[in-house]
Amino acid sequence: MKEWLVDGVLFDVDDTLVDTRGAFARALDAVRERYLPDAGPERLDEMLHQWRSDPGGWYRRYTRGETDHRTQRRHRAALLHETFGGEPVTEEFFDEWDDLFWGTFEKSWIPFDDAAPALAAAREAGLRVGVVTNASVELQERKLASVGLSGLPVLVGVDTLGFGKPDPRVFTEGARRLGTDPARTAYVGDEPAVDAAAARDAGLLGVWLARRGVRKRLHETEDHEAMRASGVAVITGLEELPAALGGGREHTVARA
Ligand SMILES: [Mg+2]
Repeated sequence: MKEWLVDGVLFDVDDTLVDTRGAFARALDAVRERYLPDAGPERLDEMLHQWRSDPGGWYRRYTRGETDHRTQRRHRAALLHETFGGEPVTEEFFDEWDDLFWGTFEKSWIPFDDAAPALAAAREAGLRVGVVTNASVELQERKLASVGLSGLPVLVGVDTLGFGKPDPRVFTEGARRLGTDPARTAYVGDEPAVDAAAARDAGLLGVWLARRGVRKRLHETEDHEAMRASGVAVITGLEELPAALGGGREHTVARA
């Protein structure tokens, strides 16, 4: 008999279940082609890195409840244009810009191949599953439905409590809504600090999904051993999740 370490699993959405990085790459490439004539295709990776690492801290302000979704995006668009040689992003121009950017982004959502099997495996093992995310509940429900993962409840979004991860209350509220003890609940996400370490600090089992072959955001650790030593489980694909949670295989990653 395998002994599961948890009764429930909470999942991050972006870059965990859905290839959001890929969708942003397609959206930024559309922006590059239309609005950034001096930036060749070879600069797309740099653009994507800036977008995801959020050097202006605008998305982090949004997750602290200090600004709205559109405003944070407009500031990031302005920084992108400053860096890569586009026209200034005025309020008026941003409407047009965002139609292209956000429109392309939404059309580009695709799930990771290992997402649906991981959810099925967790359910089959009798674990409860749900989502805790730093985007709005409405957006994530729409995103999950569009990639065929609509059976997964979005329990906590950034608009649920008015702030997001890494605040520990976000994770404990997720467990409360899932109906599981935080100590018997895993949180699985791609960001080592905001997801795995923050969940661990909130009393959950933090699982860092360090996807194989994915370039990390600026300032993010890539040190799997140091993360394991700090008390989080580290997996490189969602097919490793059952083993990390104590089931599936004899070899398990114990909690520190
Ligand atoms: Mg994520």
